[in-house]
Amino acid sequence: MRFNIITARFEEEDLAPEKWAIHGSDRSLSWEQFRREVHATAELIAGLNLPAGAPVAIRGHKEAGVVVAMAACMMQNHPYIPLDIMIPEDRVRRIFGIAGVQLLVDCSDVPLETELTTLQDNGTLKHGKAMGTGNTPFRPDDPLRYIIFTSGSTGDPKGVCISRSAAAAFLHWTAADFGFNADDVFINQAPFSFDLSVYELFTSLHTGGTLLLNDAETANDSQRFIQRINDHKGSVWVSTPTFAYLYLTEPAFHAERLPTIRTFLFCGEALPKMTAKRLLERFPGARVLNTYGPTEATVATSLVNVTAEVLDKYTDMPVGAAMRGSQLITRTDDGAPATKESPGEILIIGDNVSTGYLANDALNAEKFFVENGKRGFRTGDYGWIEDGLLFFNGRRDEQVKLNGFRIELGDITAQILAVDGVADAIALPLRSGGAVKRIVGFVRPLAGMDNGELRKAILLQIEKELPHYMIPGDIAFVEAFPVNNNHKTDRKALIDGYLAQL
Ligand code: AMP
Repeated sequence: MRFNIITARFEEEDLAPEKWAIHGSDRSLSWEQFRREVHATAELIAGLNLPAGAPVAIRGHKEAGVVVAMAACMMQNHPYIPLDIMIPEDRVRRIFGIAGVQLLVDCSDVPLETELTTLQDNGTLKHGKAMGTGNTPFRPDDPLRYIIFTSGSTGDPKGVCISRSAAAAFLHWTAADFGFNADDVFINQAPFSFDLSVYELFTSLHTGGTLLLNDAETANDSQRFIQRINDHKGSVWVSTPTFAYLYLTEPAFHAERLPTIRTFLFCGEALPKMTAKRLLERFPGARVLNTYGPTEATVATSLVNVTAEVLDKYTDMPVGAAMRGSQLITRTDDGAPATKESPGEILIIGDNVSTGYLANDALNAEKFFVENGKRGFRTGDYGWIEDGLLFFNGRRDEQVKLNGFRIELGDITAQILAVDGVADAIALPLRSGGAVKRIVGFVRPLAGMDNGELRKAILLQIEKELPHYMIPGDIAFVEAFPVNNNHKTDRKALIDGYLAQL
């Protein structure tokens, strides 16, 4: 059996109904059990008579019910908004407001206190209010499948809308070029609010494989994680390179101990050549796939199988060739072809591109475009193309990646500035070897402030409003912000001054 994400229907229902569909953190569901639960939840949602295409928030972590709710929403053509429990309640409420959420499905042990209509994992339905009237555009010919909220530079999260046609483009590509099949067991640990997790979620449901969900506690406990992968014969490892790098420090992380793993699939940040090389040494029978792409283009847009030959041939790590049916362009300001010496902005054109950010016309006009009838997105990433392969050369704006998590530094700065006693502030990244290792919040306090108390107040504000991975590693107080020749804050001088004091 499988769940076709494009039609949002179960197919081949007589084929191995007893096979495991999902191993959740709380329980496992066979394909037949999964099918029944999805139908029951879909009926319940249909009975609520929500406006067509109204978004449904799904809160939880790695419970099987989260996936049941996602499939049920797709069946009813309601986009789901995945909200991992790590997202603080204030931010969750802001997302409810931006999206005009009509229903919350809460699978968490500690349900959110809210006046919204809420369906709990145990089947309890509490009727309540909807958040506004719902401002999500509904196109019956191309309904939204999900909306993932990413960090926004102004302090408000951005809702990336992914429609059925975008999901279809992504799934046609993975079916044709990734070599997965129904025997695969997809290992998930990334939060569902991070679009990396759509890899294993959509491909396992769509191919009729098995989805192995691992909660944060398990993923951070190497013995438990390795044992769980072994117990369930995990075959496709999906993670950021940072997560795999951490596992490479674990002696038991090798093919003899984990013989069923046949693919390592990466996305979300640069894959260091050394990480790829060491994985190929530890797992000689496995493939290492590097993929690249922003949430705005449905998980990933390019793919390369990183073999020993690829590692030998290129000094830089390629991120791959464009997805079937999609185009990658590297465009320099003066229109000259982009090269390693002079990289251009990476543009993505194809059906996999999002229909836009929710209720954000100004940003949509800036970031999205239409070319030859196809949706296009300006990624803000820079790179060049060589031998048909894209190479990534970083960004020129304030978006950074920390352990694979996407962060707009302005999102953090806005929270620091919201604290009484802060005269000025800026969040900046500390890098080592190109990768962001830490974020520091630089603060100019108002005269007479107690820095210790102010630090506490800032951290409290950030913890209340932002996910844990956005909390700065340090808050540094300065008397004045240094200014460069262009009369802008001299960021480098701030960082150099900070490092000199360590
Ligand atoms: P997200 O929307 O969280 O998937 O983040 C997308 C961003 O992560 C991209 O725009 C790139 O800046 C970065 N990124 C994604 N994949 C890769 C990769 N394979 N190599 C380098 N950077 C990547």
